[in-house]
Amino acid sequence: MATNPSDLSHRPIVSGLIGRCPRCGKGRLFQGFLKLAPRCESCGLDFSFADSADGPAVFVIFISGFIVAGSALAVEMLYAPPYWVHALLWGPLILITGLGPLRPIKGLLIALQYHHQAAEGRLSGDAP
Ligand SMILES: [Zn+2]
Repeated sequence: MATNPSDLSHRPIVSGLIGRCPRCGKGRLFQGFLKLAPRCESCGLDFSFADSADGPAVFVIFISGFIVAGSALAVEMLYAPPYWVHALLWGPLILITGLGPLRPIKGLLIALQYHHQAAEGRLSGDAP
């Protein structure tokens, strides 16, 4: 199959970030917000191999916590605003930084899992 180098969707990392199939870069990876489709609608790749577990949440917690806690500390140190300002600022920011990256990061981890053929460890005598 010929690949067009300018077609960014065929790169596993890009296709993962935009929620496309890691093999063909065309079919949708997600059925719901975070629920995976059973298989690729374009190339038929079975997505049952994909198990990112709580990996995406861990990355999102670290990123979101760094941004929100850092911003809250900086604003408090610089302006010492009343508490309702903090509540007004950080509530929405927690939602944005928490929910926003979940899907791209889950797609990215699944694309990387597919690309590197990562799976649970098996003994060499096991059936493939
Ligand atoms: Zn596909």
